[in-house]
Amino acid sequence: MKHQRIPYESCPLCGGRSEPRLQVDWTGHSRYDARLPDTIEWHQCMTCDHVHTSGYFQDDALACIFEKTIAEQKVGEDVEYQRWLAAKLIEKVLPYRSAGRWLDVGFGNGALLLTAREYGFEPVGIDIRPDNVERLRDLGIAANRRGIGDVDGCFDVISLCDVLEHMPYPVPALHHTRRLIASDGVLVVSCPNSESASWQQTEPEANPYWREIEHCHNFSKTRLYALLRECGFEPIRYGISERYYSCMEILARPV
Ligand SMILES: [Zn+2]
Repeated sequence: MKHQRIPYESCPLCGGRSEPRLQVDWTGHSRYDARLPDTIEWHQCMTCDHVHTSGYFQDDALACIFEKTIAEQKVGEDVEYQRWLAAKLIEKVLPYRSAGRWLDVGFGNGALLLTAREYGFEPVGIDIRPDNVERLRDLGIAANRRGIGDVDGCFDVISLCDVLEHMPYPVPALHHTRRLIASDGVLVVSCPNSESASWQQTEPEANPYWREIEHCHNFSKTRLYALLRECGFEPIRYGISERYYSCMEILARPV
């Protein structure tokens, strides 16, 4: 018996009506798991154009997915290269904030927080993988196993790197992020951009994101900018991510 998704009743961003757009078979994927459905169905909202999966997985299915944590999401993996990548992102933030508390949501391999500490920030991390939390604590960083909705306090920088596309409902998470960020703080958001040239030139067969079992959303830059504004942020800088294929990296300020 395969785990099934909880279907979205409507667009998870705006509540509008969504219609099927694309169905892909992911059985050839390197992380394919027979306990999960063989196909991924993508829907598109008729109101806001957002593209999302037909539904989302619950904890039992997510546990199957996380068993196969890819190496680069483990703390300490390829540490010097990951430090170099993290520094590229931190240097985009420095013109706006150069010190203070930095909360990284879904810290994965921990490289961003470890490198932010080198730059003089006070790092705080949350992640759902218990082994990563323990390892980062061993390295002296305040790390907890919790979701963004369970965090309180005030932060000068909050990073949501490759996180929003995993969340079944990103809107409440962004509203809570808005409550946590300092009035002159900086939000960092990265995720794949369906309006990028590389995305559009690999459509649909060679595009890896239609077969990404962990993702619930395929954001466009246009929709993500609108979403940030709906949740109380104003984008201030666009850039491409050097970490993942076809990804964008956006800085935003609370308004
Ligand atoms: Zn919508």
